[in-house]
Amino acid sequence: MSQSLHHRQSAALSTRAHLITPSGTSQARTAGRVAVSAGRDLVDFTIGEFAIDVDPIIKGAAIRAIAENRNGYSDTIGLSPLRAAIAGEVSRSAGHSWTADEVAVTAGAKSALLFLALALLDSGDEVIVPTPYWQTFPAQIRIAGGQPIFVNHRADGQLDVEAIERAITPRTRVLLINTPNNPTGAVYSAEVLGNAAELAQRHNLWIIFDQCYRSFVHSGNEHHNIVALVPAIRERTIIIDSFSKTLAIAGWRIGYVVAPKSVIAAIRSFQSHMTSCANVIGQYGVLPYLQSRQDRFQSHAMGRLTANRSVGLDILARLRNVPTPLAQGGFYFYLDVSTLLRRSTLVGTSQELVDYLIETAGAATVSGVPFGDPSGLRISYALKTDDLVAGLTRVVDALNALI
Ligand code: PLP
Repeated sequence: MSQSLHHRQSAALSTRAHLITPSGTSQARTAGRVAVSAGRDLVDFTIGEFAIDVDPIIKGAAIRAIAENRNGYSDTIGLSPLRAAIAGEVSRSAGHSWTADEVAVTAGAKSALLFLALALLDSGDEVIVPTPYWQTFPAQIRIAGGQPIFVNHRADGQLDVEAIERAITPRTRVLLINTPNNPTGAVYSAEVLGNAAELAQRHNLWIIFDQCYRSFVHSGNEHHNIVALVPAIRERTIIIDSFSKTLAIAGWRIGYVVAPKSVIAAIRSFQSHMTSCANVIGQYGVLPYLQSRQDRFQSHAMGRLTANRSVGLDILARLRNVPTPLAQGGFYFYLDVSTLLRRSTLVGTSQELVDYLIETAGAATVSGVPFGDPSGLRISYALKTDDLVAGLTRVVDALNALI
């Protein structure tokens, strides 16, 4: 081959590589970090993790694991005692019983969800994704060759089970449920979950039940595990959970799946070829905390979050033209900025609003666009309280100045 031909040919990426882009939240985070490194005083509201120290039991156990040279792979789907401890913890919290052989530990819930998309979907199969959604859901469905079918939440943030039923076709394989919801902050009611379970049974669907934010449920709301509500759907339900939010160790990459054994076997196969196992030091770190059967850290974290939520809602109450966010669970204020965008002459889209807030308020937020909702704005309140107060006050002033 001639030298010139070599230069003219360019190696191409796959079609799949063009299907997805980096997650909008990580892009927003990067934009925030760029502004900070340029010396700007910026409060970062984009983060999906808690600014809080890790529990000393977990820290100590991880340090011990390093000192004891626990450096090798674990079993593909996790250390046996950890799987047993997870089964115990999930069973206790849900009021329904699972065993260790129904648990797989994965490198974050994210990788578990990808393995599931690969394990459950054939090309063109459809997954019902309630909108607004966590953007990784549709991205992974597309990576696996499936088709996300978007169905709006009700105005009160609950699943719209009737609209979901209308969207079901012979290709529908999975109903995706995420409660407490990222980004909306809704916690689904027992009634709505019961109806969704009944629908899944009638149409023979899998349910993926993502409860990664279940530790954080606020003021009068209650998180329900859908299997505990309707045990008849146990064999079609895959529970996704993670220690990223619950124990504030997002970077350690420890998530898990609780599911029928056939699904656990599929996850074992996929994980064995993709990540081998979850981070071993992290697994040893979490183990004694779970075995201690305390929820010391969760109580501490919840105390901090409750205070932040309350201070934040007080500040947001000064907003004109933006309704009070749901903030029933998780740690996001999700604002409906549709009126603001309609009336403002300065900003027309939520992305322009994000840019305006970086410039004017020194605050990095996430537009609703990556969540499939052009009229949303997501603000995390899992920050240090001082940062939250300073930044949110500036955000409210800047939004009120728009009209
Ligand atoms: N599910 C939801 C709804 C999330 O928001 C996230 C993270 O932001 C995850 C799953 C994944 O968490 P991880 O991969 O860190 O366990």
